[in-house]
Amino acid sequence: MIQENLLDVERKLQEACHRSGRHREEVTLIAVSKTKPIELIQEAIAAHLTEFGENKVQELCEKMDLIQEPVHWHMIGHLQKNKVKYIVGRVACIHSVDSIELAEQISKEAVKKQVECQVLAEINISGELSKFGISPEETENFLRKISKFPNLRVRGLMTVAPFTENAEENRTYFRQMKQLSVDINAKNIDNITIDMLSMGMTGDYEVAVEEGATHIRVGTGIFGERNYH
Ligand SMILES: *Cc1c(COP(=O)(O)O)cnc(C)c1O
Repeated sequence: MIQENLLDVERKLQEACHRSGRHREEVTLIAVSKTKPIELIQEAIAAHLTEFGENKVQELCEKMDLIQEPVHWHMIGHLQKNKVKYIVGRVACIHSVDSIELAEQISKEAVKKQVECQVLAEINISGELSKFGISPEETENFLRKISKFPNLRVRGLMTVAPFTENAEENRTYFRQMKQLSVDINAKNIDNITIDMLSMGMTGDYEVAVEEGATHIRVGTGIFGERNYH
């Protein structure tokens, strides 16, 4: 089943790249395996997926312990400071840095473990009150501050667009994210080069790719509907 889903996602991804004059290699597909069992992750690995995303620290750690293959893990959910120690040094990237205090904690832990930690700033591009993230207006200042922390490597921006039946409605948000990254790069701030834009999920990844996503986070489209019971 995963094999079939993946063929479908891959075809749509390639078509979106083609429509927007981009190379398929510019976009990394992150398989969001939250709530899904190890067996399905194994199946995805057999289908050559190497990037996996999880949104809860405990579940992420359990899965990292169980999976022996050298895959990359991405923390994509809200992260509490007291849980930072469990994932720094183990994950490829933390996509959800949404406060100075969290960035500082990640930095401290990375220094302690003598590793470099790749992070993205989570941006609340739509301004929805229910969402975590830095406002677009605060983003530059936020990046300036966190880029000074040792052993923290600020790679880019991430957003969770609103849930919608019509992906076109999110195009404006993805475009604003891309513009924000272009504007910030144009300022040539020390230690800040935005080369990752993590945006687009099952319902809207094609639009996100057309607007410049470098990392898409696809759960349902690969693993099927989630059951939270
Ligand atoms: C669950 C989740 C996804 C994947 O959602 P789907 O709609 O199943 O593709 C992507 N990003 C984040 C932050 C998530 O929590």
